[in-house]
Amino acid sequence: MQKIVEERQAFKHYPVEKQAARERFTRLAEPYKLEILDGLEEGQITFVENGPFIDLCRGNHIETTGEVKAFKLLSIAGAYWRGNENNKMLQRIYGTAFFSKKEQDAYLNRLEEAKKRDHRKLGKELDLFSFHDESPAMVFFHQKGFFLFNGLIEYLRGQLKTRGYQEVSAPTILSDDLWKKSGHYDNFHDAMYFTKAENREYAVKPMNCPGHALIYKSAQRSYRDLPLRLAEFGKVHRYERSGATHGLMRVRAFTQDDAHHFCMEDQLQAEIGGLIDFTHEVYRTFGFEHYEVAVSTKPPKAMGSDEIWEKATTALKEALKARSISFTVNEGEGAFYGPKIEFVIYDSIDRAWQCGTIQVDFSMPERFDLEYVAPDSSRKRPVMIHRAIYGSLERFLGILIEHYAGAFPLWLAPVQIRVLTIAESHNAAAQKIIERFQKEGFRVEEDYRNEKIGYKIREAEMQKVPYSFVLGDKEVESGQIAVRKRGRQDLGSKTVEEILMLLKNELAGTGA
Ligand SMILES: [Zn+2]
Repeated sequence: MQKIVEERQAFKHYPVEKQAARERFTRLAEPYKLEILDGLEEGQITFVENGPFIDLCRGNHIETTGEVKAFKLLSIAGAYWRGNENNKMLQRIYGTAFFSKKEQDAYLNRLEEAKKRDHRKLGKELDLFSFHDESPAMVFFHQKGFFLFNGLIEYLRGQLKTRGYQEVSAPTILSDDLWKKSGHYDNFHDAMYFTKAENREYAVKPMNCPGHALIYKSAQRSYRDLPLRLAEFGKVHRYERSGATHGLMRVRAFTQDDAHHFCMEDQLQAEIGGLIDFTHEVYRTFGFEHYEVAVSTKPPKAMGSDEIWEKATTALKEALKARSISFTVNEGEGAFYGPKIEFVIYDSIDRAWQCGTIQVDFSMPERFDLEYVAPDSSRKRPVMIHRAIYGSLERFLGILIEHYAGAFPLWLAPVQIRVLTIAESHNAAAQKIIERFQKEGFRVEEDYRNEKIGYKIREAEMQKVPYSFVLGDKEVESGQIAVRKRGRQDLGSKTVEEILMLLKNELAGTGA
């Protein structure tokens, strides 16, 4: 690398006819490049060349290798050619390069930090979840992990109550015909699981929307019923190749914090505005102060008139502008059935995660023949908005584990307090304290093991328990508690009342 950089090799791009490219790669004895070439369409392709190296490439390179000011070999690993285990195993070399040493150091630090925070590693250390070959890429939540999962639901449920939602639940297995009607059968077939009973074909739902469309249709709806907001913590199954799954981040069964707003066209902007505020509030609660927003507009092939597209896209943009939220526009990248807003959050080590979406849909009301009675007694189609804020709860939890490095805020922590005793003679006093704090609604566990107190304190720290209470002779005599806060902070001795005040203040300050 050093030699290549010093030679300041220029990157030359030039078009080549496929046949000429084939001859050249044959001469160079490059069987893999030839194979890739065979998979490309006839006509011209682009070569890129620097020094003695030639590759097929669309471009976007620096001008010369001299611009590389820092580089590092990261790892090497065996990799099957084209990710297929029937192919030959090759050696893959991972490396990185930057325009300055400083940028590279920052990147490497972040990688190091990310490794420490890896949710799969922390998931094991904190006993949150496991995976088993009996159900590949589907999560087995353990008690503490499931507490967190439910904590995310409970928090959002509290929000739904004040935001005019009806929480519903639709079945997991629905007939094939429904998925044909919704279009999922044609467009999503490879990612769906199927089953059969009494000679009828069913699919395991990959999405919650059709279920909500059926609930909408279960009664005659009037304009007075709109907007109708149906929310569901709906578990969906989507097949992913085993090479594509990753911890909690990419699984085959996950729970969406899904909702569908059925509304009239002129309610679109207000609905979207409310959803943006809602999303903002949720991200703020978890400390994602910085997020980015993109609006995707009408693609070349789309359903619905230009007029309604214009109206919906304007509604999305105006709702953002009214809140002084800057956004980028992905021209033509909306789904065929409507424009959307996507939210990308940045975690505590500045990594980007796409999470929330607000998607306008003109198609599904059409496919399911959804109607409402307008003020003039005519029948009209509602517009449907699909929205998710966490996206997938499993994935969001994975992001949170890494964002907090396992040290969850007090309101969300599965265990908030651990009570450690120095000797067995202190256990009775400890038990009283545990009961008192449990009565106040705190989640407390004890550590009465016959271990050195230093060891117990280190373990509580490793388990990222927010508060540890230490009880010895001195504390039992004075009726006080030696309090330690996560992050090796000794808060000294306090009375029960003082501690309760401290914890309640902390909870009140988090807004969740
Ligand atoms: Zn939906």
